[in-house]
Amino acid sequence: MKGYVKIFTYGCQMNDLDSQKMYSILSREGWEPTESLKEADLIILNTCSVRQKAYEKALSNIGRLRPYKKRKPSLIIAVTGCIAQQKGSDIISRMPHVDIVLGTHQLHRICTAVEEKREENGPVVDTRFGECIPSLKIVPHQAFMVPTHRAYINIMQGCNNYCSYCIVPYVRGREISRDHFGIVEEARRHADSGVREIFLLGQNVNSYSGGISFPELLRCINDIGGIERIRFTTSHPKDMSDDLIACFGSLEKLCNHIHLPFQSGSDRVLRLMNRQYTRETYLELIEKLRQARPDIAFSADVIVGFPGEDDEAYRQTLELIREVRFDLLYSFRYSIRPGTEAASLEDSVAPEEKSLRLRELQSVQRAITLEINRSRVGLTYPVLVDGVSVRNAEQVYGRTTQNTIVNFTGPHRLIGRTVDVRITRANPNSLTGETAEYEPGHTRLPIQV
Ligand code: SF4
Repeated sequence: MKGYVKIFTYGCQMNDLDSQKMYSILSREGWEPTESLKEADLIILNTCSVRQKAYEKALSNIGRLRPYKKRKPSLIIAVTGCIAQQKGSDIISRMPHVDIVLGTHQLHRICTAVEEKREENGPVVDTRFGECIPSLKIVPHQAFMVPTHRAYINIMQGCNNYCSYCIVPYVRGREISRDHFGIVEEARRHADSGVREIFLLGQNVNSYSGGISFPELLRCINDIGGIERIRFTTSHPKDMSDDLIACFGSLEKLCNHIHLPFQSGSDRVLRLMNRQYTRETYLELIEKLRQARPDIAFSADVIVGFPGEDDEAYRQTLELIREVRFDLLYSFRYSIRPGTEAASLEDSVAPEEKSLRLRELQSVQRAITLEINRSRVGLTYPVLVDGVSVRNAEQVYGRTTQNTIVNFTGPHRLIGRTVDVRITRANPNSLTGETAEYEPGHTRLPIQV
């Protein structure tokens, strides 16, 4: 055994998958995961710089590792992900207890970088940019997939859109798509090992161009036996083609949920954000998606307090939220990301005003989510069971195809199975249910308590 490794992950699903991949390749080389920082011989901080909060949290946690290094000088500390790409060797200048800085395109080199560090003693910094395919192609070992019946697959990386507030194109690079043969093969292998749900990932997933179009890729995965559900994120409204919208009506495994960030309800702010669509075209997309799949659920991202967002622009954002009626909204106060276009704009909305707007917007959304959840009481949904409920060990939880979390009483052996659950209670962010009666001939799992 080479030693114990602990990875901390910040930010999005893309980073979760990158951590699963690093655990997998390190374990193949003889590293064992640990939860104990004292025991760890290698600690990796897989960072995110998309939002100020995640950025600050990661930096402060790197600082907190200093005493561990002091007590155990052989401990190797590595920083990977977006902050590593953005800051490079500056990280080591500011925090000399860091040994390795590995950029977003060099993830596959983690084992080599650790060996180099052990052999050479000096810090290892590799933020070369351009070729990310080897990292994208790493298939995580099922032991590190959480949950094991859902496989995340990177199909592309990077972004060409340059939204004015966003750091992603600078730290992940321009769009690069994987070849579709490799993706479909990976999905098949997952299906053979018992995976039920395939989750396709990319910063701008619906602009995928790896030899076939994104809708064609969805159709290929829909044809794989054993797969029950397909999801993807994150989509850009400007890349929602009619063909992709039609998939929601024609592909039975494609879940009736889409995450479609709108960011602002004001055309003027959308222009300042360089989002390349208007409020009207966004609402038209929502309408078309509802026509293709009447029970489709929506989630989205929204920013409040972007430079130039006056009362009228903010009001238009609230109106859009009331009109669409999202199931779930990820809402953020605007924070300057150094190096982006928007960093040169005057941060014109006062911090207190941003907080006020965010609180109001979140309360509007909470009421909508609760109304939607209440409308589901009494109905029965197929729920793919993900794990044991945090608050009650006699309960398990899972997701409907609309991506709503459902808790219900049931044995742990249901994890990884799809069960019909009748909804009995609506909660602010989830549903509570009970298992529906088993009908003979039903393809889903009956409960035998
Ligand atoms: S589409 Fe815009 S917000 Fe999304 S990753 Fe690209 S630049 Fe960032």
